[in-house]
Amino acid sequence: LLYNEVQDLKGTIRVYCRVRPFLQGQDMQSTVDYIGENGNIIIANPFKQEKETRKIFAFNKVFGQSVSQEQIYTDTRPVIRSVLDGFNVCIFAYGQTGSGKTYTMSGPDLMTETTWGVNYRALRDLFQLSNARTHAVTYEIGVQMIEIYNEQVRDLLLLTLEIRNNSQLNGLNVPDASLIPVSSTRDVLDLMRIGQKNRAVGATALNERSSRSHSVLTVHVQGKELASGSILRGCLHLVDLAGSERVEKSEAVGERLKEAQHINKSLSALGDVIYALAQKSSHVPYRNSKLTQVLQDSLGGQAKTLMFVHINPEVNVIGETISTLKFAQRVA
Ligand code: ADP
Ligand code: MG
Repeated sequence: LLYNEVQDLKGTIRVYCRVRPFLQGQDMQSTVDYIGENGNIIIANPFKQEKETRKIFAFNKVFGQSVSQEQIYTDTRPVIRSVLDGFNVCIFAYGQTGSGKTYTMSGPDLMTETTWGVNYRALRDLFQLSNARTHAVTYEIGVQMIEIYNEQVRDLLLLTLEIRNNSQLNGLNVPDASLIPVSSTRDVLDLMRIGQKNRAVGATALNERSSRSHSVLTVHVQGKELASGSILRGCLHLVDLAGSERVEKSEAVGERLKEAQHINKSLSALGDVIYALAQKSSHVPYRNSKLTQVLQDSLGGQAKTLMFVHINPEVNVIGETISTLKFAQRVA
């Protein structure tokens, strides 16, 4: 193993909670009452004094409003680096729409290097590390980008290159999606821009659509050890999930209702799979959603899972905040 630090993470599930800052900059009353060093968070309505309204949750870590993208990556890096040792890794961003999922995974709309999210930092890290090891191992890296909308998989890189799947890499986990070889962070940035653009095709408003579909960026890594000739394969799935907010039955009709049902079903299927794995249950219900089917080989066994749960600290969404934290608590 290259990184001893990851050994204790083998085959584990970790849950990190991230609190989004207030966007207006003004000091608003927050539902986050307390964040402990040990991963505890207490939620309370600041306008209610009664003790019984305080709810406590415990995770591996909790990141407050002012935690930087760099700090988030520092705590994600060990899991990411293990991909170069042949591990499969899934990183999920969970939370209601507007809670900061895309910010964590990709960054804000107008990005600078300081606000880069986990996915760019991960790729940069993987390139740097693999380049530093060329004397011992030669690595090939390729990416896939898909979207899962209403239980249908869409290949977001299909329209980009004529040369499809012509690499030595095997697209193990995402069948029927283009696997594009990449050799620099710039290649990846370009592909992600294209994928993002393809995601918008046919959608009335990108934000609308992106909050109702899961997007999965998969990084495949294949290393050949020069001395032994043996091959290592690992893959990293970076998943920006659909918004977890419950839709009022009364306001959802037609397409909107169908979308809501699909999202609901797939998020609970994901929760059930992670819960079964955490319980070391002999039956893991992978078949209940497209998302868990696609990720099956990277959930469980030796694979590592990291779930970022996002919360919006505003008082008016306290109900969603609590149901988000309950979902996460079940799998933590
Ligand atoms: P989601 O993907 O969950 O719908 P976004 O990532 O789009 O949410 O975040 C909603 C808004 O909040 C965006 O304008 C985003 O830039 C901003 N935002 C989210 N998290 C942070 C953060 N940690 N720091 C600064 N701005 C943030
Ligand atoms: Mg988003």
